[in-house]
Amino acid sequence: MTTSNPSFDVTIIGGGISGSALLFMLSRYTDLKRIALIEKLPHIAALNSHGRNNSQTLHCGDIETNYTLEKALQVQGSAQMLVNYAAHFDRSNELLHKYPKMVLGVGPQECAALRERFKIFSPHYNGMQLLEAADLEREEPALMRGRQEEVVALGVLNDYSAVNFQKVAESFVSQARTQHACETEIMLGTSVSRIEQRGDGFRVNTDKGVLNSRFVVVSAGAHSLLFAQKMGYGHEYACLPVAGSFYYIPNLLRGKVYTVQNDKLPFAAIHGDPDLLVPDKTRLGPTALVLPMLERYQPSTIPDFFKVFSFDKGVLKTMGGLLKVSDVRNYMLKNILFEIPVIRRRLFLKDARKIIPELQLDQLEFAKRVGGIRPVMIDKANAKLHLGEAKINPGNGIIFNMTPSPGATSCLFNADKDMRIVAERLGCQIDEARINEELKTAG
Ligand SMILES: Cc1cc2nc3c(=O)[nH]c(=O)nc-3n(C[C@H](O)[C@H](O)[C@H](O)COP(=O)(O)OP(=O)(O)OC[C@H]3O[C@@H](n4cnc5c(N)ncnc54)[C@H](O)[C@@H]3O)c2cc1C
Repeated sequence: MTTSNPSFDVTIIGGGISGSALLFMLSRYTDLKRIALIEKLPHIAALNSHGRNNSQTLHCGDIETNYTLEKALQVQGSAQMLVNYAAHFDRSNELLHKYPKMVLGVGPQECAALRERFKIFSPHYNGMQLLEAADLEREEPALMRGRQEEVVALGVLNDYSAVNFQKVAESFVSQARTQHACETEIMLGTSVSRIEQRGDGFRVNTDKGVLNSRFVVVSAGAHSLLFAQKMGYGHEYACLPVAGSFYYIPNLLRGKVYTVQNDKLPFAAIHGDPDLLVPDKTRLGPTALVLPMLERYQPSTIPDFFKVFSFDKGVLKTMGGLLKVSDVRNYMLKNILFEIPVIRRRLFLKDARKIIPELQLDQLEFAKRVGGIRPVMIDKANAKLHLGEAKINPGNGIIFNMTPSPGATSCLFNADKDMRIVAERLGCQIDEARINEELKTAG
């Protein structure tokens, strides 16, 4: 960065999949001339968007039983944008992968719920099947060996279901670099310390210098809320960082096997996933552990946690409300125990056997330094968790995004929304025909 404070139309803070998707959208589909992306780590998408740290699932809403039909169809549309992106831009077919996927119901109650769900969801999902015990014996034999209880699954056996989100983010950045009408500056290994409003624009202070920008989008994970609050916005929210850990097992599953969610614990049900980065292993998880840090394995982010958790009446009321529910209390305790080295495998085995009844302790291995953090927002005024993505848009040319799951799947959908906010403020043109052809029409 030069000393003369370079100027940009838009500066994006955070080079995860959200920031990279926005860089791609702005550079390809608008007539903006100068865009900067600032990432503090030396690589793109090295944190929560890295395949090591998330479940690598393209969420389509078909096997996620915590989604209503409305939410499922919205997620399906977001996922389709990513599929269309890959069809247009992924020459080497390395971004998306086809594996069978299903959600498994165990016991009469879950089976009845899945049969009901099938009636409502199958008209909207091509290829969705109700898989009875005999089908499961053929498709996923490990689910059936040693199984006593009634089971049924909702499955889609031949569709894109796994994504290397880091590679997708890298692809967004390389596509952005090829847009010659727009100059993009990618600043890796550069940490933003402060953002100040200056007149109609912003001054972005980094450890490598200062830049000016007409618009700023902060997609810095849980740190987005910290930046917002430092500027006087978003005090209606607190952040609850929920870490997820995983366990490795040998490749006993052929595809993704989800389990039915407990309504009171919408992100709690574990699943089994082939690991795109470790081909000889299947991953089970994630667990859900509230951790007092904004980035996993980064104790230096503990002080930042206390700034955005802000123990006030709203937070205490929300936490008190959660802990009153015995399912939530027990679940939180269990997840603390899942992290204790001597006992964690034994405890996790019990949950894992819901998926693979004959799984043995010696087949289960804690996946060290695998799993990121989901920045779950607490809505303090209403004393409840705000599940899913949160956006703070004060309307003055800056946006702050917090994107827990399925934020990686929804990256283009979310970037599309931000692009429209930017375009309205800066008065730039959007090439709708090109977006429709490339992202909104199946390739
Ligand atoms: C256990 C787990 C499983 C998940 N599974 C799935 C899944 O299967 N499918 C799915 O769709 N989603 C999944 N998610 C969610 C998904 O990982 C996130 O929604 C997504 O990665 C968020 O991307 P992001 O770019 O917003 O944030 P991040 O990937 O966290 O990127 C934020 C970036 O901001 C940078 N940054 C922070 N502070 C600064 C600063 N001061 N200056 C400059 N840069 C900064 C960070 O270094 C980081 O690179 C999962 C998440 C977890 C934790």
